[in-house]
Amino acid sequence: MQKYDVVIIGSGLGGLLCGNILSNEGKNICILEKQFQFGGNLQTFKRDGKIFDTGIHYVGGLSPGQNLHQYFKYFGIIDKLKLRKLDENAFDKINFEGKNYSYAQGFDHFVEALANDFPSEKNALKEYKSKIKEICSHFPLYNLRPNLGLDKEKQFYEISVGDFIKSITPNKTLQNILAGNNLLYAGTPNKTPVAIHALITNSLIESAYRFEDGSHQIADLLVESIKNNGGTLMNNSEVKKLELNNGKAESVILSNGEVIEADHFISAIHPALTLEMTDTKLLRKSYRTRISDLEESISVFSIYFSLKPGSFKYLNYNYYHFNEDTVWSIPKYNPEKWPQEYLFLTPPSSKSKEFAETATAMTYMKYDEVKQWENSDKGKRGNDYEEFKKYKAEKLISQIEIQFPGFKASINKYYTSSPLSLKDYTGTRNGSMYGIVHDCNNPLKTQIYPKTKIPNLLLSGQNINFHGVLGVTVASVFTCTEMLGMEYLLEKINNA
Ligand SMILES: Cc1cc2nc3c(=O)[nH]c(=O)nc-3n(C[C@H](O)[C@H](O)[C@H](O)COP(=O)(O)OP(=O)(O)OC[C@H]3O[C@@H](n4cnc5c(N)ncnc54)[C@H](O)[C@@H]3O)c2cc1C
Repeated sequence: MQKYDVVIIGSGLGGLLCGNILSNEGKNICILEKQFQFGGNLQTFKRDGKIFDTGIHYVGGLSPGQNLHQYFKYFGIIDKLKLRKLDENAFDKINFEGKNYSYAQGFDHFVEALANDFPSEKNALKEYKSKIKEICSHFPLYNLRPNLGLDKEKQFYEISVGDFIKSITPNKTLQNILAGNNLLYAGTPNKTPVAIHALITNSLIESAYRFEDGSHQIADLLVESIKNNGGTLMNNSEVKKLELNNGKAESVILSNGEVIEADHFISAIHPALTLEMTDTKLLRKSYRTRISDLEESISVFSIYFSLKPGSFKYLNYNYYHFNEDTVWSIPKYNPEKWPQEYLFLTPPSSKSKEFAETATAMTYMKYDEVKQWENSDKGKRGNDYEEFKKYKAEKLISQIEIQFPGFKASINKYYTSSPLSLKDYTGTRNGSMYGIVHDCNNPLKTQIYPKTKIPNLLLSGQNINFHGVLGVTVASVFTCTEMLGMEYLLEKINNA
């Protein structure tokens, strides 16, 4: 039986990046994926001859000299990606209390643009910029430098984003606008650490890009690089058990009974699911309980629209609309008032710059609303479920029609995704959008490190650091430094 240097569980961005890094470094790796498609949230699907993204719509930090650009350069994919830069003057538009506010790219530009709407708040906006920059400067891997234990990043996991924004300005409207894209991190004002807000917001303000013709291109390029490095990828290979021998992980067992051995293991799936794969006493009960009790972020309902040719203009920005007098929708979530907010966007296609081929709308949905169908297999959930999704879709479409009159007439077909779809395709608990909830009231509880008490088992993926392309990239590098050495790997990345 072949024995690998490293077996990686899960082929989402986290698993693929660990595979890329370790195979670049000469390790003989094997990635095991339970689905047919590799990529987890990077998966796209095709309907009506068109490509639809599921879990990546836009990312930041990809311009030369910025963090994600340098990481992607090291992964060998930066020059091969088909990117489209969002509007420099408005990559996000926040539609709040009937008015549009624009987020511009480049922090000075961002400040100037919002100062046009809030002239008396210019100093507050400048203060916002310098504080966000200050917070981000404390995160070593975000800045591609080694963690020497001197940084003070932990303190920013103890301050809530709500308190932080209130400290910037007493102007309630501006407070809301500064948090206008909090759907990107399922924000809760008195819970979400300011660190999450700062790291994500800063990266997008630096530069914001979409992936032309689908985000699966990232997965395809990473799969290709791993294969070129001699790595193995196995789809339809669900890991069920992790076997230990003499206090070390020895093999994994797949659902078809196949046994795969390795010297090291990286699990890039939800840590609670990883712990369920072994009952070893090396992992203490308190650790298991802490991990399995972690709260999951809220889920989402999405509509994927196939549009009639030449009927709806491509929008080079993301549009966040709010029906309430607050952009913090999660604490006020109310199924009776659904949808309370939505994100609407038109993914770019290489076929046209002027018109959109497809559009996507997303709004929060709690898992409880679809729980009654959770025990049926996908495709067999019956008419009730289909009716429920149709009813919700029509409600959301009517709402979009108010802000984009004529949109409805440009729809050819649409497809919906509920929290159950997300659960089916990514295996996240309760169809959680972004994995675990980070809580500034109990930061230690929600911080998970790559190292475990099983000496040759490391964890990775969105729950280790924070979610999103940037968060998972940093998490993957962090995990791999445990095997390769922090200074060694960062030197390689910086010299790529
Ligand atoms: C609707 C939505 C929109 C988003 N939009 C953006 C965005 O615009 N920009 C951005 O940066 N981020 C976005 N994100 C977040 C981003 O997609 C995720 O944070 C990131 O892709 C997570 O990567 P991961 O590798 O940690 O996990 P996943 O992508 O969940 O991958 C885990 C993989 O492990 C596999 N797996 C699970 N269990 C097993 C097992 N037992 N055996 C084998 N394989 C297993 C799963 O099938 C899956 O392929 C979005 C997420 C969602 C849900």
